[in-house]
Amino acid sequence: MNANRALKILYLAAEVVPFAKTGGLADVAGSLPKAVQALGHDIRVAMPRYGPIDKGKFKLKEVLPPFPVPLDERTEPASILEASLGEVPVYFVENENYYDREGIYMYPDDAERFIFLCRAALEMLKKMGWQPDIIHSNDWHTAIIPNWLKTIYSQDPFFERTATVYTIHNLAYKGIFGHRVLEVAGIDEYAFPYHPEMVDMNQVMDFMARGIFYADVINTVSESYSREILTPELGEGLDPILRDRRDRLFGILNGIDYEVYNPATDKYIASKFDIHRLERKLENKLALQREARLSPEPARPLVGIISRLTDQKGFDILSQVIDPLIDNLGLHFVLLGTGEERYHETFRALEERRPQETEIFLTFNAPLAQRIYAGSDIFLMPSRFEPCGLGQMIAMRYGSVPVVRSTGGLADTVQDFDPRTGQGNGFSFEPYNSMALYTALTRAVENYKHQSTWRTLMLRGMTADFSWQASARKYVDLYYRALAIKAGERKPKEYEPLSRGSGEEG
Ligand code: ADP
Repeated sequence: MNANRALKILYLAAEVVPFAKTGGLADVAGSLPKAVQALGHDIRVAMPRYGPIDKGKFKLKEVLPPFPVPLDERTEPASILEASLGEVPVYFVENENYYDREGIYMYPDDAERFIFLCRAALEMLKKMGWQPDIIHSNDWHTAIIPNWLKTIYSQDPFFERTATVYTIHNLAYKGIFGHRVLEVAGIDEYAFPYHPEMVDMNQVMDFMARGIFYADVINTVSESYSREILTPELGEGLDPILRDRRDRLFGILNGIDYEVYNPATDKYIASKFDIHRLERKLENKLALQREARLSPEPARPLVGIISRLTDQKGFDILSQVIDPLIDNLGLHFVLLGTGEERYHETFRALEERRPQETEIFLTFNAPLAQRIYAGSDIFLMPSRFEPCGLGQMIAMRYGSVPVVRSTGGLADTVQDFDPRTGQGNGFSFEPYNSMALYTALTRAVENYKHQSTWRTLMLRGMTADFSWQASARKYVDLYYRALAIKAGERKPKEYEPLSRGSGEEG
């Protein structure tokens, strides 16, 4: 294996910035491919052409007219449009029936919609005659591909040398559906291997489990999370197969897009700043206070949160102490997020109770997010678990000091400040409870009062390297590793349906 050879990689994701985004996956899919390309590889992205993706705005042009994509006994047409992400080609799979809708997810036929995406992408490659070394799938939406390359496409010479990499951005979203989905995917005759510790597996179609089981190499988006998911506590019921396959499971920390998230060039913020013009951050704070209908108070600590409003993100422990925190620490609190209705209610009620100190934006708004990163002093992420977390890294780049629960990627990026040694770049707590959160935020606010300490913390965050450079290299290493594993395992004979469980090997 020539580890210097330029690779051909197809990168598949359900959401990609700037075309469609609900969370961190879109950020990663919009930036990692550019960084891999910068290392000299031919990487291309594929995703659905959702209804709101504007053909004119993104200059989409058709590169493949409609062709039939097999699904079940029938076929559905796909055409392929192309745009670019920097210099990276992005292929959009178009099908009116599946994608011409307002949203990205949460439709009853989601399984079928993403099976279609994957199948159309493989057929597209054959039509284009572009034979990738690597197909890189992300999360359950595209997890069926490793399964296919080991089943229905295993005899296809076109993919004979193609290895698969599967990235788990969040194990909690597994993609569980009924068995009928196996027929749609054309793999109902291949039993999922029996695993003695996962007997429930046979009752459902679990896309995540299949990605993990069939990919040549698997990774998660931080080293800590790659270890945490091996435990029953955070393994989401899949820890037995993850443990079995730990020899091919890696952790690579996400980067953030330094072109998008740059306070020195950000066109959405009130006043551009950097480490040499740090005083201008205050103008962003005052502008945010205005936008958030709070009184302009330079010295009052402003805590920001930008997050999906789900259980994962720690809103249960936060809501228990938010009032005493605001009272005792004298905070301004600005939240931007959407998600579960009960949290919408919690925060709506908070805003009604405390209009002078809080502003709650229950919406999705990327420019506003950038203004909150730029205008806040403290960025709060009390997550119960966090595969990587981008918010804390973006916040640090904008000089907002993170207060986080020490878990997953938060533990890998935020070191708790120790006033005795002067080490650390934020504040963190371990036990998942409201008292620990309260104490950490109190420590942050105490240090906020010491201007020179705070300045040091801000500068530490702003000068840290959270770019993709180092991580993109690690992905390329992972690609070579996947190819080596695939080459070692390639069998000239017929594929044997898996009848034994990997757990039986002892
Ligand atoms: P997750 O992927 O679990 O949602 P991350 O921290 O990895 O969490 O990534 C979240 C990304 O989505 C960040 O870029 C954050 O700024 C952005 N984001 C989350 N909620 C909103 C929102 N309501 N409006 C704008 N951006 C948001």
